[in-house]
Amino acid sequence: MTCSDCNKSIDPELGYHTTKSLGVPLCERHRRLVERVMEENNTPVEAIQLFYALKEAGTYPMLEWWDGQKSVDIAISRVKLNIEVETHYRQLTHEQAINDLEEAMHSFKNGFTTIRIPHVAISHYLEDTVRYILGIIQGLKANLKVI
Ligand SMILES: [Zn+2]
Repeated sequence: MTCSDCNKSIDPELGYHTTKSLGVPLCERHRRLVERVMEENNTPVEAIQLFYALKEAGTYPMLEWWDGQKSVDIAISRVKLNIEVETHYRQLTHEQAINDLEEAMHSFKNGFTTIRIPHVAISHYLEDTVRYILGIIQGLKANLKVI
């Protein structure tokens, strides 16, 4: 068994525990790093899983990327794609609703596309989720060329 981050060979027991708690097998060093990121940003475990799956797919994702105003769960900077993993389906207040729209406006003005992915899509359909994101990246790349 190897670490999903550095490919270092790891103890099967550590691999088992990290897969259970973090969604992917990680070495001791990367377990600590990922746990710290999760603690500081309240990152959902599905975002960790998706991050490593996207990395495996060769998309160069960044975990908890600071966009100047807030931390984005996963960013793919080449195509200015931000991915937020939604874990709770909150009852929107009218202030949150209009704030979300304002946030969307700022992102678009800066050339960013933000997609929100429900955590259940990742936990149940990780491969499909990655495939669709790859499609989105291709679409964004094609659009970037046009501009
Ligand atoms: Zn590692």
